[in-house]
Amino acid sequence: MTMSKANTQRGLSINTLLVLSFVVVSLVPISILGFKVYDAAWENAWREVREKHQSLAKNLAAPLYRYLENRHIALSLIAEQLAKLDKPGNNPQTRAVLEQGLTHLNRFQSMFLLDRQRNILAAIGNYPIDTRQTPRLDIPDSDFLERTLAADEIRLSPVVINPVSHKTTVFIALPVTTDANGRPSQILVGELRIDVIEKMRAGIHFGQHGHSAIVDQYGHVVAHPNPDWMNNYIKDLSNLSIVQSMMGGATGVTEFYSPFKKADMVAGFTAVPKYGWGIMVPQPKREVSAQVDSLLRAELIWALAGLAVALTVGFSLAGWITRPINQLAEAGRGLQENNYEYRLPQTRSFVPREIQQLGQAFGGAVKNLIRSREELNRLNQSLQQRVEEATAELREANSKLEELARLDHLTQLANRRHFEDTMAQLASRRQGDSQSVCLLLLDIDCFKDINDRYGHPAGDAVLMQIGDILKQSLRNTDIAARYAGDEFVVLLRADLNTGRQRAAQLLETIDAHHFNYNGQELHATVSIGLVSCTINSECNSIEDVLRRVDEAMYEAKRKGRNRVAEASLAATN
Ligand code: GH3
Ligand code: MG
Repeated sequence: MTMSKANTQRGLSINTLLVLSFVVVSLVPISILGFKVYDAAWENAWREVREKHQSLAKNLAAPLYRYLENRHIALSLIAEQLAKLDKPGNNPQTRAVLEQGLTHLNRFQSMFLLDRQRNILAAIGNYPIDTRQTPRLDIPDSDFLERTLAADEIRLSPVVINPVSHKTTVFIALPVTTDANGRPSQILVGELRIDVIEKMRAGIHFGQHGHSAIVDQYGHVVAHPNPDWMNNYIKDLSNLSIVQSMMGGATGVTEFYSPFKKADMVAGFTAVPKYGWGIMVPQPKREVSAQVDSLLRAELIWALAGLAVALTVGFSLAGWITRPINQLAEAGRGLQENNYEYRLPQTRSFVPREIQQLGQAFGGAVKNLIRSREELNRLNQSLQQRVEEATAELREANSKLEELARLDHLTQLANRRHFEDTMAQLASRRQGDSQSVCLLLLDIDCFKDINDRYGHPAGDAVLMQIGDILKQSLRNTDIAARYAGDEFVVLLRADLNTGRQRAAQLLETIDAHHFNYNGQELHATVSIGLVSCTINSECNSIEDVLRRVDEAMYEAKRKGRNRVAEASLAATN
């Protein structure tokens, strides 16, 4: 009951408080550090991404620029060769120069010489070119040839569908001046090798889905990991903000949604100088997140390990502190329930000092308590012993008193009261008892004379010695008592004859006895009255019997003493 009371007490236990404190104390730095690490991880990741993506973009932009420049130079060289011919056009010389450009320089997919109306004068390519089927190089939706003629300079086409091969491609064009007025009369067109550009692009890939892409000056795909956007289809990416930035000639890093990867991307981008192409190096943002996540996961594991250490330390420290306190509390509860058998916990040296002191103080108090209790027990025991002794003494005194109340102090025979009580009991039992009894009343003859002659103490001695004679002559069932001063009664369980004999014997014994007082010999006789009766019929009235026996005794006195006289109950009745 006390236990449950103790358990229902309100308030947190030291154990819980300590463990909670440890958790809080460890969580605070872990969380602060966690936030710091989280920020740092993101910052780091972003910085890396910026640097990497931007430098990758630039790394691709440089060779691409050189590639385009080289094409430019190669085309100029071929144009110079053509200018040296008599009449460049549909003739073997022209084709030979073009052939040279295609095969020896191997820098173009195809080469065309066009007149101002775009009619193909000469053509050579890595694929069959039938000028009867396609006499003109009509590049759809592109006025770059017109602009080339007008500006009289080299021009790069946007991504277009080659009307001959029907493949996506890019042309580079240069006006060729052959007439005397110096106007460009022909256009030399070289078709770039998209496969070479694609190879350069494909060389840049990183992470799981990090790639690169190249768009033209209008934001159309030149090279991209998705082959469907390159073959015979122009993919317009100009609506992407990143592409717009590139078309503006900017360099940087940005985020955008990629419909191809169907993911948020982070990308570095730059523009190829002079040609207006854009290069972007995108990577799914989740890859950057994954990198940060793995860093954070490591940090989380460390944080959890730290927390586990804190909890372990917290638990063991709390146990270290609270175990002895709990033991003391348990001991206290034991004392409360008067369980002094309970062993006090040993306050060992590795228990905190304050608890050791508490334990020692508590132990001291309990020792004192136990000592006082033992003292109290001892006192109680001795008190109980004394009470028992006193009770025994009292009981003894009582029994003595009772005996005294029953006995005559001088003769040690029963006294008159006890005799009368016994007689009354006998009379009350008379229903089931038909036994004959004889009552004798003995009175010392001329006792006054003895007193007078030898003194009162001598009289006492005679009384005592007659008492002794009566005791000796008694049988088990007989009762003798001192009835008054020098009178004795004897109740015999005997019929009249036996009663007569016993009375005669008594008379004789007393008469023959040498009474002794201080060396003096005395003589005494008694007169005896005798009444016989049957208990259940004649002893109806004890008073009657006593009166009758008294009369008989007086009868004996009258007849001269030292004799027995009988009285009959029936005679008076
Ligand atoms: P009787 O033969 O007629 O009986 O003459 P008696 O002298 O014996 O006369 P009674 O019986 O009347 O006298 C009894 C005397 O016994 C009177 C009293 O002084 C004496 N007496 C009574 N009690 C004691 C006692 O305890 N001690 C002594 N020494 N004497 C006692
Ligand atoms: Mg007498």
